[in-house]
Amino acid sequence: MIRQMIVLAAVMLSSLAFAQEREYVIVVHGGAGAMTGVEADPVRSARYYAALDSALMIGDKILSEGGEGTEAVLAVIHYFENNPLFNAGVGATCTAEGTFELDAAIMRGEDLSAGAVAGLKLVKHPIDAAYAVMTKSEHVMLSGAGAEAFAREQGLDMVEDNSYFATPKTMKWIEELKRESKKNGTVGCVVLDKRGNLTAGTSTGGMFKKRWGRIGDAPVIGAGTYADNNSCAVSCTGHGEYFIRHAVAFNLCARYKYLRESLEQAADHIIHTELNTNAGNGGLIAVDKNGNFAMPYNSGGMFRGFLYKEKGNPEVKKGCGIGTKIVVVGE
Ligand code: ASP
Repeated sequence: MIRQMIVLAAVMLSSLAFAQEREYVIVVHGGAGAMTGVEADPVRSARYYAALDSALMIGDKILSEGGEGTEAVLAVIHYFENNPLFNAGVGATCTAEGTFELDAAIMRGEDLSAGAVAGLKLVKHPIDAAYAVMTKSEHVMLSGAGAEAFAREQGLDMVEDNSYFATPKTMKWIEELKRESKKNGTVGCVVLDKRGNLTAGTSTGGMFKKRWGRIGDAPVIGAGTYADNNSCAVSCTGHGEYFIRHAVAFNLCARYKYLRESLEQAADHIIHTELNTNAGNGGLIAVDKNGNFAMPYNSGGMFRGFLYKEKGNPEVKKGCGIGTKIVVVGE
């Protein structure tokens, strides 16, 4: 009898958990860094809040209609790559030579399929090239001229000249190249879709003044990008060398899966303990298979936003942040 009651209680608890489960979740980031200047400036911060909100709404439209996580991640990152506010696509930071070299990755948690590209100079949307590597090749990562030849072969949009990615802001940075200065960032998107599939995507211009074909963490599967339906989807931003050394994205999934830490515990540990003690500056966004999400950072701030819908509740909840404060937007 007692045993039956325990079983009944367990069933009730699990159905309660099921009833509270999130139908779909989308989390985005637009890079981590100092941010104090942006936060203190109402005009500039409003621009970022609006852009983050637009990105979330693009994802919401796709996910609410039952679209796949990969579709949402691609559309959101496309939007960021077209927006000069962010260090991805147009608006990307420059190399020490004053050129633009772009990296991107996408990973699907359902079957661990992944695609990544590095050092692109002429592909309009690096995230499309990453997706093509995932879906149209037997490889995971392509770089430089080879990656571009592949993108051409796949009929992806190409730009005529590398200066397509320049903006008045980056032109000023090119003038400042001789001065010591740091201008980084990255964009990312993680999704749990209605089918329970997790997807992660990241796109970046990399680190300001990078040299010698330097590749950061964003396209390195397991470092800046990772997704596994058995644990979580993760996209990182920050000083890529540290994120590679700590295999941050996979590290988070492994802590969650093997140590059974909560998503928040695992993400906080990596960002605030592992990375911080090594001076690895940055943050990450992550969503787990149950729809929990985390957005920790150890820098001055991180452009970030979340949106989710509970099962059986028509209301969509969303918020965006630059510093510690999360602002509910668009309502
Ligand atoms: N993680 C990127 C890289 O190292 C840069 C950034 O997110 O700020 O290339």
